Amino acid sequence: MSDAQGLHAVRGRIVHCLHDPGEGDDRNALEVFDDGVLLIEGGRVARVGPAEDVLATVGAEVSVTDCRGQLVVPGFVDVHIHYPQTDMIASYGEQLLAWLERYTFPTEGRFGDAAVAADTAGFFLDELLRNGTTSALVLGTVHPESVEALFQAARGLGMRLAAGKVLMDRNAPEYLRDTAESGYRDSRELIERWHGVDRLSYAITPRFAPTSSEAQLERVGELATAYPDTYVHTHVAENRAEVAWVSELFPWSRSYLDVYDCYGLVRERALYAHCIYLDERDRRRMAETGAVAGFCPTSNLFLGSGLFDYATARSDGVKVGLATDVGAGTSFSMIRTVAEAYKVAQLQGTALSPARLLYLATLAGAEALAVADRIGSFREGNEADFVVLDPTATPLMARRHAHTESVEEQLFALFTLGDDRCVKSTWLQGACRYSQSDRA
Ligand SMILES: [Zn+2]
Repeated sequence: MSDAQGLHAVRGRIVHCLHDPGEGDDRNALEVFDDGVLLIEGGRVARVGPAEDVLATVGAEVSVTDCRGQLVVPGFVDVHIHYPQTDMIASYGEQLLAWLERYTFPTEGRFGDAAVAADTAGFFLDELLRNGTTSALVLGTVHPESVEALFQAARGLGMRLAAGKVLMDRNAPEYLRDTAESGYRDSRELIERWHGVDRLSYAITPRFAPTSSEAQLERVGELATAYPDTYVHTHVAENRAEVAWVSELFPWSRSYLDVYDCYGLVRERALYAHCIYLDERDRRRMAETGAVAGFCPTSNLFLGSGLFDYATARSDGVKVGLATDVGAGTSFSMIRTVAEAYKVAQLQGTALSPARLLYLATLAGAEALAVADRIGSFREGNEADFVVLDPTATPLMARRHAHTESVEEQLFALFTLGDDRCVKSTWLQGACRYSQSDRA
C-alpha cells in the first residue's frame, strides 16, 4: 500500500492546525485543502497543498492513495493512558481510591508475567491504531517487564511512544510494591536501554504521591534531574478524598502539586493527569515551569472526580493535552474523548470551537509532549503520522454530513457523533499500519 522510503501521495480533504486557535477561534490556525495532497517522502511530510499544485510537481509514476470524500488529519496524540488497564476498562461503581483497590491493583498484578505483558501490549497498540491514535504517553505497571514488552511492540510498529514503569513503594499491595532503591535502579536501566531508541522515550512514572514514600520521591527527583529530557508522568488533584489524603501524608506541603515540586518534579516534560483541584498558585507554578496538565474528560466523569477547568488553565498559561486515561477513561477513541471535553467545557460556560477540538486531539498533544516539531501537524519535515477519517461512517453521520457546509461543521459533527467506525486507516511515518478495509 505504501513505500515508507519512496515518494507517495495521499489525496483527500486535508485539515490540520498550525497553532492553537485559542479563545477567539483564530481562523488562521486551521489550514484546509478541500482537494488536497499530502506528499510523503522517506516517512516525512515533503509537501502539503492543493492536489492540482502538488501533483503537477511530481512525476506521473508517483503512487496516489485516493481518499477523496474523506478527511486526512494528523494522527491523534493521547497524553495519558494505562495500557495494563485495557482488560478492566468499564469496571462498575467506585470512585478513585476504592476503584484502584478493587479493580486496578489486582489487574496490574499480572504484569510481572512477560507473556501477559506482551499479549496485552500488542492488543493495546492495535487498539490505539484502530482509533487513529499514533502517539501516546503510557503508564506500565510496577514491573519493568511491562514496559519492556510495550517498547518492543511499539518499536516493531515504528510508533512514537513514551512510557515508564510505575514507581510505588507504599499504600499498595505487597505484590505491586518496589522500593526507593529498586524503583530507581529499574527505572535507570530502562532509561539507558530505551530512551531515545528509534521513536521511543522514557517517562519517569511515580503512580501518585500517596503510593510513594518521601525516600522514593527523593530518588525520583534525582532521576528527573539526571535525565532532563525524559518525561515525568504522574497524577495530581483528581479526587477530593485523594487530595485530603495527600495533605495527611505530606502535612508540610502547601498543596498536592507542591509535594511534587519539592522533589524537583514540576518541570518541562512533566505531565500531570487531571489537575482538577489546583489553585491559582499551582497553575502559575505549572505555567512558569512548563509542566503540562492532562485533561481526561471521560475518566473524570466516569469516576465522578470533577470537571477540569480548561479555560482557566489556558488563560493562566498552563499547557494542556487531551487524554483518554483508559481504564478509568471509557474509550480508546480520541474522537469520543474530544466530544466529552466539549461537554465538560460547556458545563463551565465555555464552547470549544471545532478547530480547537481538532487542536486538542492532535497538535496540543504534540506540544504537551514537546514534539510539535515532529508530529501533530503537516508542517514540512514532520513525521508523516496521520489518520483518514470517514465523516459519513454511519447512516446518521451520512445524513448529518449532507447538511454541513463548512469544514468546521463537518469536524464538529464528526467529533460529536463519531468513534472508531470513522477511522478508515492509520499511518505511521507514511506507512499504513491499520486499515478498516483489511478487517471487513
Ligand atoms: Zn491515570
